[in-house]
Amino acid sequence: MASALTEKLSRLVKELRGQARITEDNVAEMLREVRLALLEADVALPVVRDFIARVKGKALGAEVVGSLTPGQVLVGIIHKELAATMGAGTAGELNLAAQPPAVVLMAGLQGAGKTTSTAKLARHLIEKRKKKVLTVSGDVYRPAAIEQLKTVTAQAGAEWFPSTAQQKPLDIARAALDYARKHHFDVLLVDTAGRLAIDAVLMDEIKELHAVLNPVETLFVVDAMQGQDAINTARAFKEALPLTGIVLTKLDGDARGGAALSVRAVTGVPIKFAGVSEKLDGLEAFDAERHAGRILGMGDIVALVEQVTAGVDVAQAQKFAAKIKSGEGFTLQDFLEQIRQMKKMGGLANFIDKLPAQFSAKAGAADMDRADKEVRRKEGIICSMTPTERRKPELIKATRKRRIAAGAGVQVQEVNRLLKEFEQMQGMMKKMKGGGLMKMMKQLGG
Ligand code: GDP
Repeated sequence: MASALTEKLSRLVKELRGQARITEDNVAEMLREVRLALLEADVALPVVRDFIARVKGKALGAEVVGSLTPGQVLVGIIHKELAATMGAGTAGELNLAAQPPAVVLMAGLQGAGKTTSTAKLARHLIEKRKKKVLTVSGDVYRPAAIEQLKTVTAQAGAEWFPSTAQQKPLDIARAALDYARKHHFDVLLVDTAGRLAIDAVLMDEIKELHAVLNPVETLFVVDAMQGQDAINTARAFKEALPLTGIVLTKLDGDARGGAALSVRAVTGVPIKFAGVSEKLDGLEAFDAERHAGRILGMGDIVALVEQVTAGVDVAQAQKFAAKIKSGEGFTLQDFLEQIRQMKKMGGLANFIDKLPAQFSAKAGAADMDRADKEVRRKEGIICSMTPTERRKPELIKATRKRRIAAGAGVQVQEVNRLLKEFEQMQGMMKKMKGGGLMKMMKQLGG
C-alpha cells in the first residue's frame, strides 16, 4: 500500500529539518495531507474537523528536538492522539459482571458480521475464559440466519438455543434466558435481526429485547469497510440502545478503517474487538496504536517516527550534536553511546525495515541481521576499555589490545578492526559537523 499519499507524507515528514518549533506555517501542508488521509480512510467529515482542530491545538508550539523535523513531530502527535481517541484500555475485555447468565446483545446492520462475531465471541469465552456459553438468534425474518448461527455455534463448541421464524423475538429471548438460568450457563449471547438500513420498527424491537434481557454488554457490530455512512448507523444505534462496546469487523479487508474513528467518536464507547477473518479464530483485541497507523496509511513511517522519538534519549542526542558542532572530538565513549541508541531503537535491521522501500531496498534482511550482531560485539569491545582508553584510543597498544580482546571474548584483530572503523567514523563525524543520528543511520543504511 505504498501509495502516492504515503510517499508524499514521507517527503513532507522529512522536509523542514532544523526548525525548532511547530508553527502554523511549517505544518500547514502536512496537516492538509493528514486531513486528506483521514478522509480517504473514510473518517466522517465532522469527526475529521474536530480531530484536526484538536491536534493543531496540541501541536502548535511543540518543541522539535534532536534531529527530528516538525513533520516528524507532528506525525508523532497525530498518531498518539489518534490512538488515544480510539483506544480505551478495555480492548479485548468483555464485562461479565452480572448474575449469571451474563447477557451479551449483538446489534448492527445486516451483513455487518453479527452472527460470525457471536460465534467468535462464544469461542473466545470458552477458550480464554472457560465459560459455559449459550447462543440464540432473534432473527425471525431470515430462517437462514438462525441456521447459520446454529452451524457456527457448533463450530465454536458452544450450545445453541433453538428458535424459529414463527416465534416472536421477545418470546425467544425470554425462553433462552430461562433455559440459560436453569442450566447454569455463564453467558448468553443474543444475535439479533439484521437491518439493511436503519428501520424504526426493527429499532423498536431491539429496544424491547434490550429491556427484557437487561444485557451487561450491548455490542454494536460494524463493518470496517462501511465507510462514511458508519457515522449515521452508529448514531442511530447509539440513540436506540445504551451501547457498551464496539466490534469492528472485516479489518482483514483493504479498507483503511476510518469507520473506527467515526464510530468511536459518535458512540463514545470503546472498540473492544476486531474481526480479522471469516473464521472463528479471527477475533482480536482491538489495537488502537496499530489501527491509527493504518488509518493514516503510513503505518511504517509512523512506527519509525514513534521509535525514534521513544527510543532516542533526546538530551543525550542534543549534547552529542553540540559536542560535534563545537569541534570537540568524537570519542570511543560517544561511539558506544551511539551504538546503544541504535540498540534502543530495536536494532539496525528493525530500523532499516521501517524505512520506505526506496531507502531499505539496498539492505537485505540477512545483511542487517549480521550488522546487528556486529553492533553487539562492538559494544562488548568498547565496554572492555577503561574510560581513559575510550577518551584516548591512541593509548591502546598491543598489551592493552590483548586485555580488551580477552575481556570482550574476541580476537585481537577484531579490536584492531573496531579501532580502525572508529577512526573512519571520527572522520565522518568531523565532516558532518552537527548532523545527528538520522544522518548517521542513513550513511550506515546506504
Ligand atoms: P450479520 O448479517 O451481521 O449476521 O453478518 P454475518 O455474520 O452473516 O457476516 C456477513 C459476512 O461477512 C459473512 O460472509 C461473514 O463470513 C463475513 N464476515 C464477518 N466478519 C468478518 C471478518 O472479520 N472478516 C471477513 N473477511 N469476513 C467477515
